[in-house]
Amino acid sequence: MLSLYGCTHTISRKGRNTLELGGMFTQIEGFDATASRHPRRKTYGVKVGHVRVGGGAPIVVQSMTNTDTADIGTTLKQTLELAEAGSEIVRWTVNVPEAAAAVPEIKKQMLDAGCIAPIIGDFHYNGHVLLTKYPECAKGLDKYRINPGNVGAGQRRDEQFSTICKIARDNGKPVRIGVNGGSLNQELVMRKMQENTDKNLGKESEEIINDCMVISALESTELALESGLRHDQIIISCKTSRPRDLITVYRDLSAKTEQPLHLGLTEAGMGMKGQIWSAASLGILLYEGIGDTIRISLTPKPGGDRREEVYAACELLQALGLRSFAPSVTACPGCGRTTSTTFQELAESVQGYIRDMMPIWKTQYEGVEEMTLAVMGCIVNGPGESKAANIGISLPGTGEAPRCPVYIDGQKDVTLEGTYDELAVAFQALVDNYIAKKYPRKTVSVSA
Ligand code: SF4
Repeated sequence: MLSLYGCTHTISRKGRNTLELGGMFTQIEGFDATASRHPRRKTYGVKVGHVRVGGGAPIVVQSMTNTDTADIGTTLKQTLELAEAGSEIVRWTVNVPEAAAAVPEIKKQMLDAGCIAPIIGDFHYNGHVLLTKYPECAKGLDKYRINPGNVGAGQRRDEQFSTICKIARDNGKPVRIGVNGGSLNQELVMRKMQENTDKNLGKESEEIINDCMVISALESTELALESGLRHDQIIISCKTSRPRDLITVYRDLSAKTEQPLHLGLTEAGMGMKGQIWSAASLGILLYEGIGDTIRISLTPKPGGDRREEVYAACELLQALGLRSFAPSVTACPGCGRTTSTTFQELAESVQGYIRDMMPIWKTQYEGVEEMTLAVMGCIVNGPGESKAANIGISLPGTGEAPRCPVYIDGQKDVTLEGTYDELAVAFQALVDNYIAKKYPRKTVSVSA
C-alpha cells in the first residue's frame, strides 16, 4: 500500500529518548527520530489495530469518510484514498443496521487491497444496540468512538455507555470517549449552571460549558474503567468549534488525565477558514506537547476531495517539526520585483512533482521526506533561501539577467536558462539526481 504522506518510519529506527522537564514530561519510547526535539505530555500508549497512539509514539494522523457506510463500494474507495494520502487511521460512521452489517465486508475488501489502516466505528445514540446485534462489526472495527452526550439520558446513559465499553473489553478493542461541544450532556450542563447560580461562583456560561466538557470526559473515563477497560484502551477528545475554547479545554484536560488525547477543532469549516482555525488551535496545543492523534475536520466543497483533511494534518505536523511526511518547498510570495508568473508556475510544478513522486520515493529512499527545496522569485532573497535548502533555484526578477542559479547543499551547482517548460524539466532532473545520490536505498520498509 503506497502512501503519499503516510507514516515513513521503519522498525529499525525505534529508539529511546529521555525527557525530564519539571516532572511534566516523561521518558518516552519513540519510533520517530524527531521526537527527542519535542517534549510531550506523558500519556498511556493505546494500540489501535497496529497503530500506537500516545505513550511517546509519533502523533498519528486520522480522518473520517463522508460516504454512506452501507454503500460498500464508495466507502471502500474513499478509505483506500484516505489511507494512501497518509491517514494512518480512518473512521467510518456506523449509524444504522445496514452500516453495521457492511463493516466486515468493507474491512475484508480493504485488506484484500493491501490496506491495513485501522478502522474506527463512530457511534451515536444506538451504538450499544448495533454492537450487540452485529458482533462481526464489533470484531472488525479496531476502535469504537463513543460520544457520552449521545448515548442516552439519565440512568440509561450510563448503562448504554457501559454496554459499549464491555463489548470493547470482550473484543480487546480500545474506545475513544469523544465529547463534543455541540452534543454535550445537557443534564451535566444544567447541574453546573445551577451550581454556579446557587454558589454565586460568577462563571461565564462559556466557562461552565468548557468545564463540563472536561468533567464529562473524566467521568466517562471512570465509567469505562469500571466497565472493565484498561487505561491503555481509552483515548479522549473534547472538541469545540472555537479555537480559544479548544485550547482552554485541552490544557485543562491534559493537566487532569494521562489518557492519550485526540485533537481536533470540530466543525472547523471550509477551505482556508477551516485550515487556519484548525492550525491556530491545534498548533498551539501540539507545540505545548498536548495531543497524540489529530484530525482536521474540514468541510469539503460539494464533490470536493476528502483527502484535503489528511494533507492539512500532515502539513501541520510537518510545519511544527513533529513529523516528516514529504519534502518541503520554500517559495517566496512574489512581489513587484517579479511580475513574471514563471516562478509561480515552477513552484507549483515542483510541489506537484513531489506529490506525484513521493509514493515511489518513500518506498525507495531512506529519509527523503526530510529534503528541503526552494523556488524563489528574485535576487533579493533567492540565493540566500536557495543556499539554505538542499536544492534551490533562484529565478530572475524583472530587469535581472534571464538566468537561474541552482544551489545544492549551499553550493552553486549550475545555472539554468530557458522557457518555463525547459526549466521545469531540468530542475526535476536535478531533484531526481540529488535524491538518488543523497538518500540511501531502503531495504525493508513498514508503511503504517
Ligand atoms: S524573493 Fe524577490 S520576488 Fe520573492 S518576494 Fe522577495 S523580493 Fe519579491
